Amino acid sequence: MSEYECLVAGAGPAGLAAACLLALDGRRTGLVAAGSDAADPRTVALMRPSIRLLEHLGVWPGELRERTQPLRRLRLVDDTGAAISAPTITFDPEEIGEEAFGWNFPLSLLIPLLKARAVQLGVEMIPEDAVRADPSSSQVAIVTTNGRTLTSQMVLAADGRNSTLRDAAGIKTNGWSYDQVAVATSFSHSGPHDGISTEYHKGAGPFTTVPLPGRASSLVWMERPARAAEIMATPDGQLAREIQLQTHGELGRIGDIGPRRAFPMRGLVARDFAKNRILLIGESAHVVPPIGAQGLNMSLRDAAQAAELIALEDDPGHTSILVQYDRLRRRDVQPRQQVIDIMNRSLLSGHVLLEGGRALGLSAIAAFGPLRRIVVAQGLAPVTTVPRVMRAQGKMPVLMK
Ligand SMILES: Cc1cc2nc3c(=O)[nH]c(=O)nc-3n(C[C@H](O)[C@H](O)[C@H](O)COP(=O)(O)OP(=O)(O)OC[C@H]3O[C@@H](n4cnc5c(N)ncnc54)[C@H](O)[C@@H]3O)c2cc1C
Repeated sequence: MSEYECLVAGAGPAGLAAACLLALDGRRTGLVAAGSDAADPRTVALMRPSIRLLEHLGVWPGELRERTQPLRRLRLVDDTGAAISAPTITFDPEEIGEEAFGWNFPLSLLIPLLKARAVQLGVEMIPEDAVRADPSSSQVAIVTTNGRTLTSQMVLAADGRNSTLRDAAGIKTNGWSYDQVAVATSFSHSGPHDGISTEYHKGAGPFTTVPLPGRASSLVWMERPARAAEIMATPDGQLAREIQLQTHGELGRIGDIGPRRAFPMRGLVARDFAKNRILLIGESAHVVPPIGAQGLNMSLRDAAQAAELIALEDDPGHTSILVQYDRLRRRDVQPRQQVIDIMNRSLLSGHVLLEGGRALGLSAIAAFGPLRRIVVAQGLAPVTTVPRVMRAQGKMPVLMK
């Protein structure tokens, strides 16, 4: 008999959420991971359905709610200087009956809370990385960095974009890189942000400010690699002046700059989302550039979908789970990945046809309420296939009314 019913590999936000869900369902669950990156300067904007999941896990509202900022509006500003420019679009959650799109969290706050909750729920923490996995017809054997062998009826591979477990499952990927690097940081400012997140579309990619509590915002600044290296090396005072210019002074005077980190931009999608008793969760399955705050929101839907399917079977690695998981998650992930890719490339290309197409598409969204509501609703989550714990109780998706 296997030691575990479910083993999760990777203690990023996706793996921790998945481990909590499985333990809540009463599964004998272990989590294999040497550690998580507590110093990550990123914040993540989590949409309503993801917040419902955190509520289900018992980490929301509490301390998390007190230290985060609701996103009351999303604004897209064409700042490309292109000959054909798009109008500014402001998305309002009230258009689909919501008071906020979601909340913006520092990852350094979310990860320790999820970890503490996993321990409280009885997840067995194994502080070692997985170095090898051998799937068989009834279980998966995982060898750790300390040479231990752990056995489980199934494995959730949440070990990030360079996943060892994905390779062990025999899953290939399609990957590509963008000629861009995202610099993530945060800053204080003298003016109010009014809960508005602004994505300024510039020639090298989006420059996105996301509100934090008080007079502070996080920033994801996508640039060509050489320019990103300059930004990383710029002294704080000079960077503050740069940010003030890039935001056109809309947030007032820029003050303290937080820690920075550069993330080279890549895209990746697994050719199978599950195989040989191993299910891929989060960035082991899909990597997208940070546009429209989709990455972790999709990963939490992976975790919730996997747990929902596992709850239906005695054997948590049963083939029917793998087949349905692959079908349901692909349907959500791939169209989103394509839209993000087109949006990003239309900024990078400098090609008049692509620029014109983007301007036309955004103009149509700005002008037509029904189209805008579809975009808003789809931006939050898929309209029809949201896992149960992420759905609004007793509320039909607005587009199905
Ligand atoms: C600048 C930026 C801004 C972003 N903003 C947003 C946003 O606003 N909203 C949003 O939804 N998403 C956002 N994202 C995406 C989001 O941050 C990622 O999707 C998310 O952090 C990925 O989580 P993960 O758990 O899948 O992977 P990771 O966080 O990479 O976790 C993988 C874990 O696995 C561990 N690991 C690796 N190898 C092994 C092994 N062999 N054995 C065991 N463990 C292993 C690692 O140590 C790590 O802890 C952003 C991304 C970037 C780059």
